[in-house]
Amino acid sequence: MFWEKDIETIEKDQLAKLQLERLQKTVEGASRSSYYGKIFKERRIFADDIRTLSDLAKIPLTNKDDLLEEWPYGFLSTPKDDIVRMHSSSGTTGRATVIFHTQSDIDRWTDQLARCMYMAGMRKSDVFQNMMTYALFTGGLGFHYGAEKLGAMVIPAGPGNSKRQIRLMQDFDTTVIHIIPSYALHLTTVFEEVGVDPKQDTRLRMAFIGAEPHSGKMRKRIETFYGVKVFNSYGLSEMSGPGVAFECPCQNGMHIWEDAYIVEMINPDTLEPVPDGDEGELVLTTLNREGMPILRYRTKDLTRIIPGECPCGRTHRRIERIKGRTDDMMILKGVNIFPIQIEKKLMDIPGVGNNFHIILERKDFSDDMIIKVEVGREYFTGDLKQLEGLRRTIVNELKSDILITPRVDLVEPDSLPKTEGKAKRVIDNRED
Ligand code: ADP
Ligand code: ZN
Repeated sequence: MFWEKDIETIEKDQLAKLQLERLQKTVEGASRSSYYGKIFKERRIFADDIRTLSDLAKIPLTNKDDLLEEWPYGFLSTPKDDIVRMHSSSGTTGRATVIFHTQSDIDRWTDQLARCMYMAGMRKSDVFQNMMTYALFTGGLGFHYGAEKLGAMVIPAGPGNSKRQIRLMQDFDTTVIHIIPSYALHLTTVFEEVGVDPKQDTRLRMAFIGAEPHSGKMRKRIETFYGVKVFNSYGLSEMSGPGVAFECPCQNGMHIWEDAYIVEMINPDTLEPVPDGDEGELVLTTLNREGMPILRYRTKDLTRIIPGECPCGRTHRRIERIKGRTDDMMILKGVNIFPIQIEKKLMDIPGVGNNFHIILERKDFSDDMIIKVEVGREYFTGDLKQLEGLRRTIVNELKSDILITPRVDLVEPDSLPKTEGKAKRVIDNRED
């Protein structure tokens, strides 16, 4: 059941002890970087000031902008010679950040991913098809090394080339896939096109999805179509990549590995801590990274700690699925809306297809939301009355949830532009 039972089920006081030891080492390491060296000097912080875990609060929060201003080497804490690999973020909300790893960083991250996959139920006998982008993006290589360490056979398929993906699954009896949720939905139409039913014609049993926000409804859709159990996987390149938090077989939130990160939750406006159970922005400190330790990093991801223990026996706390980033929030006519709220509603309406785009326009000082929704293939029959009924249902369902009335345009199945990586859901045409 466990990859490393002692660590996964560690008692709270033991964990606190381990965290403190690792934090002290991390802060000492960080002080050798030019960025933290400067900050510590300015604020008269010394590595031996960290005597308890609460002393972490003496250190200021680190933002993405700090990483960008110090680009590329300002956070490096070891000599450049010790670095064996670099990765970068996807640059979803602006410029990409760069992270450097020593061999020990890579080994620990690999082990963390093996732990995640083993926890979900993947074993040596599995065939793992990794459909994430390799290259600079962390999702590909991170999982690749983790799955090899676990001992599974890895098919490094990478993204795209959908028909070949399906052929690979059939020819090599793939049992586990790692895939971006929006791509998993798109792939369903390709399965239909080539007449392959994953439930009957493949040996798939499990899927890991992550890298972008998705609702429980979307997970359900993927589980139903593929006939697999789907596990949510969370991570960000600044914290090494995937493997930060992952679902266990109870599928009731993601265990966040507290031997590798110190977890804080703050109110993104006041920056004050919020208690377990309340929504906030996740702030993380690396505990086992030597190349580029990052202290109190503002992830901009909104979630909450789920109070209570998990029946699986792991003691690491759980976070709820990510609601979105603080900068994903759309403000329209004074109402705050996250794209995931719209996705959740849409995925629950029969007749809605696999993709949608939200377009924001400003006319005469008033903001409008236009939602382009793909119609499901089985609903796309040319029956105009049925389509108009669907359109009206979508408008009414959304109106009751997001409190503004969007314009809904139905479009043909599979007609909206797709990206190979993370889906781009919102197009904001409003001028600042
Ligand atoms: P970028 O921040 O430029 O997109 P990354 O590739 O590092 O680059 O992406 C990390 C971000 O992706 C996270 O901060 C989070 O917003 C999002 N993300 C990753 N995994 C998930 C997940 N399981 N659910 C929701 N969002 C996720
Ligand atoms: Zn659990």
